[in-house]
Amino acid sequence: MKHIARKRFGQNFLIDTGIVGDIVNAVAPARTDCVVEIGPGLGALTDPLLKRVDHLHVVEIDRDIVARLRQRYSPDRLTIHEGDALMFDFGALAGIGERLRIVGNLPYNISTPLLFHLRDFADRVFDMHFMLQKEVVERLTAEPGTGDFGRLSVMLQYRYVIDWLLDVPPESFDPAPKVDSAVVRLIPKLASDLTAKDEKCLSDLVAAAFSQRRKMLRNTLKGVVDEEIFVRLGITPTARAEELSVDDYVRLSNALGR
Ligand code: SAM
Repeated sequence: MKHIARKRFGQNFLIDTGIVGDIVNAVAPARTDCVVEIGPGLGALTDPLLKRVDHLHVVEIDRDIVARLRQRYSPDRLTIHEGDALMFDFGALAGIGERLRIVGNLPYNISTPLLFHLRDFADRVFDMHFMLQKEVVERLTAEPGTGDFGRLSVMLQYRYVIDWLLDVPPESFDPAPKVDSAVVRLIPKLASDLTAKDEKCLSDLVAAAFSQRRKMLRNTLKGVVDEEIFVRLGITPTARAEELSVDDYVRLSNALGR
């Protein structure tokens, strides 16, 4: 029986075999890699991934799709985790000394919170390859001083090296989404490159700064950052949130000494 795509689960199934091949080649998994696919759906990426790895984990929320997957694949090749990827403990999948390779044509309605959720497991991850709404990829890879540069850019660029791999048009999916898509690779940075003394402090500071992105930082961060700290670090207090670099935010957060 044909599966009817569910909008609430962001179901746009990949049908372009050329793009599928490009994604799997970009991942280039070794047979014994610990690969996790988020949202396998009807198996567009699952099938070719299973040709290249001995075993695959998938996390899928739609129970009808889970039932189909259970019929199609044997449990010794595919472990199905039925549930919400936003609540899923990805860290538990990595064995001792093992690092995960996470892949997915993500449901666009939850992609931003999911990227933040996955950040919590970055130290257990080798790399991640995702299909996302192009607009999200523009924000992920945005440079300071541009309108796309925001909280997502700062917090993800702080944690990962991010590469925009390819653009994907709507007709590569069924049903076709209303937006363009793109594939990105995110590789967690080395611990030695993570210079924030307190990541929670950095995260709170960045959230506060971008809460009113049109305003001057001296106003948005009033009571959080003293004017004297801006001056000491050579950061203009009249700048707007999008004008600071990732490193500026790290320096500001470290100067707060919370
Ligand atoms: N990988 C398939 C493909 O490329 O054709 C399907 C991609 S479709 C854009 C997104 C998939 O994620 C669907 O299978 C959907 O049911 C699943 N999904 C949606 N929300 C989810 C969630 N919160 N947790 C886990 N899976 C989810």
